[in-house]
Amino acid sequence: MGVRVDQVRFAEAMDLIGEYIQEGTTHQIVTLGVEMAMLAYRDPELRRILRNADLVTPDSIGVVWGARNLGSRLPERVCGVDILGEVARVSVERKWPFFLLGGAPGVAEKAVEKLRERWGDILPAGAHHGYFQNPEQPISVITQAAPKILFVGLGVPMQENWIARYKDQLGVPVLIGVGGSFDVISGRLSRAPSWMIKLGIEWLYRLIQEPGRAKRMLVLPHFALKILWHKWGRSLRRIS
Ligand code: UDP
Repeated sequence: MGVRVDQVRFAEAMDLIGEYIQEGTTHQIVTLGVEMAMLAYRDPELRRILRNADLVTPDSIGVVWGARNLGSRLPERVCGVDILGEVARVSVERKWPFFLLGGAPGVAEKAVEKLRERWGDILPAGAHHGYFQNPEQPISVITQAAPKILFVGLGVPMQENWIARYKDQLGVPVLIGVGGSFDVISGRLSRAPSWMIKLGIEWLYRLIQEPGRAKRMLVLPHFALKILWHKWGRSLRRIS
């Protein structure tokens, strides 16, 4: 479908983050879910951002399923929210100060608190809400905090556009879009139970929690049909 996603395991993604930090230049990581894949399918600018990103991980089970159907085996989901948890866990030991940008006022700070409750000693460099009038407003706060990793939770595709536009000014080695992760970590929204995640129906839990998303979620069956359409189109072309 012209949308890039990398074949990477969670542990490999963590290794790459370590390498990017050592290199020191800026690196953009995209965590690709179904909504973003469908947006990128239609939006050449977002496709360009994905092409230029240093790493695009499969954030949702839908993306893993889709890629499999089109002939690429993605070994596992590599979600932004899990990367954030793991970065926090190792942040003191690896000396990786991290910054959270996004969410309603107070949510990113609350997420830091929860991460501290969960992992004990962590190394947050700061937090800032995501409702600014001027998109350049948080830049000075972030550069002063000098994090090694910046998690940006502004929603798709605003966070990808914002990172692509300002990454060079920010001078942070790793910048990663994580959608509504701070809402989940802070406890504002809860994450699906693990049996639902294993069954690949985390989206259903999200829909029950936020019924207002119903319209947005129509993108899921639409995506499935697109994938099958591409798959069958290929098979037909092979036969003829
Ligand atoms: N958000 C923000 N600034 C905005 C719009 C949204 O910080 O101007 C935050 C919002 O509070 C939420 C996140 O962006 O925490 C988007 O969450 P959603 O679950 O919609 O993200 P997705 O992962 O679906 O892109």
